[in-house]
Amino acid sequence: MTPQKQEKRIRTRYAPSPTGPMHIGGVRTALFNYLFAKKYSGDYILRIEDTDKERSKKEWEHQLLKALAWFNLNWDEGPALTEQQEMIVNYVGPHAPYRQSERGELYKKYLQKLLDEGNAYYCFCSKEEVDSQKQYLMSIGEPPIYLGKCRTLTPEQVEEFKKQGKDCVIRFRTPENIKVKFNDLIRGEIEVDSVTMGDFVIAKDLDTPLYNFTCIVDDVEMEISHVIRGEDHISNTPKQILLIKALGFKEPEYAHLPLILNEQRKKLSKRDGKTSVTEYIDEGYLPDALTNFIALLGWNPGDEREVFSLKELISEFSLEKIQKAGAVFNTEKLDWLNGLYLRKKPIRELTLLCIPFLEKFIEKTSMEMFKIKETNEEISIEYLEKIIFLYQERLKKLSEIVEMIDLFFVNELNYPKELLKWKEMDDSQIIQSLETSLMVLSQVDDFNANTIQDALFKEAEKMDNKGNLLWPLRVALTGKKNSAPPMQIAEVLGKEKTIQRIKKAITIVKNE
Ligand code: GLU
Repeated sequence: MTPQKQEKRIRTRYAPSPTGPMHIGGVRTALFNYLFAKKYSGDYILRIEDTDKERSKKEWEHQLLKALAWFNLNWDEGPALTEQQEMIVNYVGPHAPYRQSERGELYKKYLQKLLDEGNAYYCFCSKEEVDSQKQYLMSIGEPPIYLGKCRTLTPEQVEEFKKQGKDCVIRFRTPENIKVKFNDLIRGEIEVDSVTMGDFVIAKDLDTPLYNFTCIVDDVEMEISHVIRGEDHISNTPKQILLIKALGFKEPEYAHLPLILNEQRKKLSKRDGKTSVTEYIDEGYLPDALTNFIALLGWNPGDEREVFSLKELISEFSLEKIQKAGAVFNTEKLDWLNGLYLRKKPIRELTLLCIPFLEKFIEKTSMEMFKIKETNEEISIEYLEKIIFLYQERLKKLSEIVEMIDLFFVNELNYPKELLKWKEMDDSQIIQSLETSLMVLSQVDDFNANTIQDALFKEAEKMDNKGNLLWPLRVALTGKKNSAPPMQIAEVLGKEKTIQRIKKAITIVKNE
């Protein structure tokens, strides 16, 4: 069924539990819900599922909201951030509150309805009793379910047990011997026998409802048309459908997203390194690149294209093009995409993005001026732009800029003498090479990359190998194996520093 043919307004939700840092998988769920809603001009709702009081924390919720805002996945309804994002302030939308911990009365009303109509009941069995029953069932190859001992308690017995202060839970009276069927929009028809569910717990008491129950109450109340979530929730869906039906409502459509796998095709976990979104933000991935990359985790446009803006993703997205098989997280691809987005940035914007990573080296002194901490030199933003421009082509993430350009912010470079050596050169050849560069560059008046290159190349032609001249020079100027070409570095360093660094390299070789 395509959503256009439906009368119902498309409403999706991302319903995270704020119990830890937001993971890549969470962003994907948020993104796909967002894309689907926006594609059909519907609403995308953010609901905070914080019924687990012990594990839910406001700071995780705050981090989550900030991350979603960083990705520009702006929600139509849900908790709102202040303009500076330093606080969560209120709610936007007709179904407020959007935080489950504040919706207790609503859950209570529906729980009571299920109890009153006989669709739920109090169970006084101890945890030990239920667990050992489940163990036994498993040992004989049966599904580990609750066998329904308290199903037939009379209201008087319930009152009596309650009076005695016995611990209890509220269980759903799962209809016996029925098949729950639903059409998963990604995985097709799914059918589950109710016998595998048993009478599952839906609340600890009237004030403490559990996930499956709060989730369906909110999906119904918030008029959610499509539930798009991770595959790990697939076993909850039949239970949720039964609950929705018992309350007399119609269930939404469901779509379960494939797992995200590491490169060994195992479920991506913390052991694979970075999984939390803030780590990616801190490393200097760009929101549009990361969004582009995450969109491709399980979805593709049906052809070879891989580069999409958020706007393009909205128009291209469809649930039919989501694969069933796990989606492999490939960091190399992410770096490639991020590099692509970095290369497209205007240099001023790229420089502004890099500045927070350069705090170790520079501090802002006025609007567009900076002081180099080690040398006390004043530099302008234009000068920073020149430096960063040298590396724009090779930058894959913003944090890499630190190691690439530290050479512009230090008095002295630190590198081992051996680094100056190109292939089979011996010390006297290195000295000769550096002295040639020194002589050539001292004579260049209009000191820019082109004039420097012309002068150097003329000299290099006399040697058997350009590397003999350029390699020692590159190391003398940068202290590194890899860098932008030495002529460009020399231009940005300026003649004086260039000469100084070559002389320093000569002394290093001579003194050893
Ligand atoms: N709160 C659930 C979670 O964070 C999501 C539930 C859902 O999408 O139905 O896993």
